[in-house]
Amino acid sequence: MQRILVLPGDGIGPEIVNEALKVLDRVAELDGLELEIDEGLIGGAAYDAAGHPYPETTREMAREADAILLGAVGGPQYEALERPMRPERGLLGIRSDLGLFANLRPAILYPQLAAASTLRPEIVAGLDLLIVRELTGDIYFGQPRGIEEREGERVGFNTAIYSESEIERIARVGFEAAMQRGRRLCSVDKANVLEVSELWREVVVRVGRDYPEVELSHMYVDNAAMQLVRAPKQFDVMVTGNIFGDILSDEAAMLTGSIGMLPSASLNAEKAGLYEPIHGSAPDIAGQDKANPIATVLSVAMLLRHSLGHESAARRIEAAVGRVLDDGLRTADIVSEGCTQVGTAAMGDALVAALSTDNA
Ligand code: NAD
Repeated sequence: MQRILVLPGDGIGPEIVNEALKVLDRVAELDGLELEIDEGLIGGAAYDAAGHPYPETTREMAREADAILLGAVGGPQYEALERPMRPERGLLGIRSDLGLFANLRPAILYPQLAAASTLRPEIVAGLDLLIVRELTGDIYFGQPRGIEEREGERVGFNTAIYSESEIERIARVGFEAAMQRGRRLCSVDKANVLEVSELWREVVVRVGRDYPEVELSHMYVDNAAMQLVRAPKQFDVMVTGNIFGDILSDEAAMLTGSIGMLPSASLNAEKAGLYEPIHGSAPDIAGQDKANPIATVLSVAMLLRHSLGHESAARRIEAAVGRVLDDGLRTADIVSEGCTQVGTAAMGDALVAALSTDNA
């Protein structure tokens, strides 16, 4: 029995998670998966019900779970709260509590949606790349940091720092992911200028000796940013540090032009993980049956693949998404001429109907 904790959160969170659970139920039935699914509170919803964005009960449930599915957190009604009580703190709390050091962000553009990108369709149609970003180190957490007075003026400073063991564990996630995909890994650094990157490159090369089937390349981050808009389909998996990954993963997401389609995973050393759509709680459309549930449904596919080891169930879900798009069904955020606009629940129902036994 594998345990999944579901944290719907705020705004559109409960609506999209509801559809994702319909899909999970059906796929569990088709693939004979034994899952225990519990629900908990996080974010503004948790603050409202329990006085804290990451309550102790949720913390305990999260530690016990094999994987966590999260909707989204946040909303204008919580913006006046003191910082430690804000919904986003719930998210930061669960990430650090579970030691989620590896962030996996696929940027997939289904050919049917090529027109949604700001880039020409032939550049992006069929794009399928995965960015593996280190999430708990680098300049965002390095010491010393601060703002202080030096020689009569204020200076601000931060420290970019990675230990060999931190680099090694994220490199392994990158190589393992590449093994499951196209077996090409591009490590992104700034080794021509930064010592921290010099070490990064050295360790990645060393780890690469354990993965002779993976073709390893290296790219400076400035070039990687250019290549992502020039010819993004050249990449299979990219692995990089926290700050470069922050920027490149947003750039890659925007290549697809459809925020409602993209899932993400954050993993720890035990492969327990937190799975969530990359978008926020979209308060502007919450409760209106307008939200696109596909990013959350694809997050379920990632959860089944990376934390629970059910590759065929993951593929079944991904194939169902393709089939529904082929049928011309679209939520409002991705609709185009000639397609049929549907709401959140109807999209979920269509996905359930598209799951069939013959494509796994
Ligand atoms: P957002 O991602 O919530 O929304 C940006 C735009 O995209 C909005 O117009 C929204 O309607 C649209 N959108 C987002 N998801 C969609 C979906 N599934 N289907 C259709 N349209 C979708 O970002 P924002 O407006 O900057 O933030 C809103 C709230 O979400 C804030 O409180 C913010 O702090 C929070 N937030 C949470 C997370 C998270 O939970 N991981 C991430 C980002 C923002």
